[in-house]
Amino acid sequence: MKITKLTTFRIPPRWMLLKIETDEGVVGWGEPVIEGRARTVEAAVHELADYLVGQDPSRINDLWQVMYRAGFYRGGPILMSAIAGIDQALWDIKGKVLGVPVYELLGGLVRDKMKTYSWVGGDRPADVIAGMRALCAAGFDTFKLNGTEELGIIDSARKVDQAIERVAGIRAAFGHDVEFGLDFHGRVSAPMAKVLLRELEPYRPLFVEEPVLAEQAEYYPRLAAGTPIPIAAGERMFSRFDFKRVFEQGGLSIVQPDLSHAGGISECLKIAGMAEAYDIALAPHCPLGPVALASCLQIDFVSHNAVLQEQSMGIHYNKSAELLDYVKNREDFKITDGYIKPLPKPGLGVEIDEERVVEASRNAPDWRNPLWRHEDGSVAEW
Ligand SMILES: [Mg+2]
Repeated sequence: MKITKLTTFRIPPRWMLLKIETDEGVVGWGEPVIEGRARTVEAAVHELADYLVGQDPSRINDLWQVMYRAGFYRGGPILMSAIAGIDQALWDIKGKVLGVPVYELLGGLVRDKMKTYSWVGGDRPADVIAGMRALCAAGFDTFKLNGTEELGIIDSARKVDQAIERVAGIRAAFGHDVEFGLDFHGRVSAPMAKVLLRELEPYRPLFVEEPVLAEQAEYYPRLAAGTPIPIAAGERMFSRFDFKRVFEQGGLSIVQPDLSHAGGISECLKIAGMAEAYDIALAPHCPLGPVALASCLQIDFVSHNAVLQEQSMGIHYNKSAELLDYVKNREDFKITDGYIKPLPKPGLGVEIDEERVVEASRNAPDWRNPLWRHEDGSVAEW
């Protein structure tokens, strides 16, 4: 079997799907994208296609190494997202050829169902209690919300109080019937992270995500030493070579590689195994589309340390399309009491509605995250 063609489709709300075709008619789907830079990743995918067309799609390990190593320069969000989506599509092809789900090829199930969580509130979290009530009625009991809005390197007690009041309100409304993680989203600098973590402690959040930016990862062990709140990070780390540094230095309790950013299934399986050796839980990052989620689930169902799966149904970014809009086998993605079952179909287990994808790609938006500024006009982290 030979790879014959790679086609990319940028689609709403901010995603990109990749279709890899073969000379035997088997087709694989991947989701290579970095949010806000879809066109750049698209160019990288088509550059990598030179290494792929004419090759045997079953040799995923070799093709991965070629894509990673053959270009001399490597790593980072763009190249590793391009590799990620290609890798997903190659696993999809392999599973379809052999007639089994990818998790069977990775050794089989380690659990019967996977716990998921839901986002609540938006970029500027408001009405989180009403949002949680609606989601609780749909069976969720675990949530994630942004921890703060813009925050200066040194900011006011008033801003800290606003962040804490929101969390106190959740505990007052729900007690400990719900769990929630707080995403600091890299908006918080080290001095304020220290303050916020201390103030949050009495409310026992499930975790705090990216308490500081990944490029300040040397603060993770220092912050962890000062708080019992589990610290999570990983969506802005792109290979096992990035992750090994944070594993070695300690501080993380939960690691969150993104299956569409960190080299795909092949690479994230290795990252998950490395995390297990350090007693670090796995919670793959996934505010993306159906192929990304299906890829995450392959890893969750074979990794003993997988604890929580992010998923984007109802997320604030999905304004112009929803996760299942492009999926034919929607019943397989049903979440019951917050849990999802292994996807039963061969390959990644997602049947893409290609007609819908082609139609949607005709008016693909160029999604960008907002540019935030502090009160003094300087750029703020979003
Ligand atoms: Mg995050």
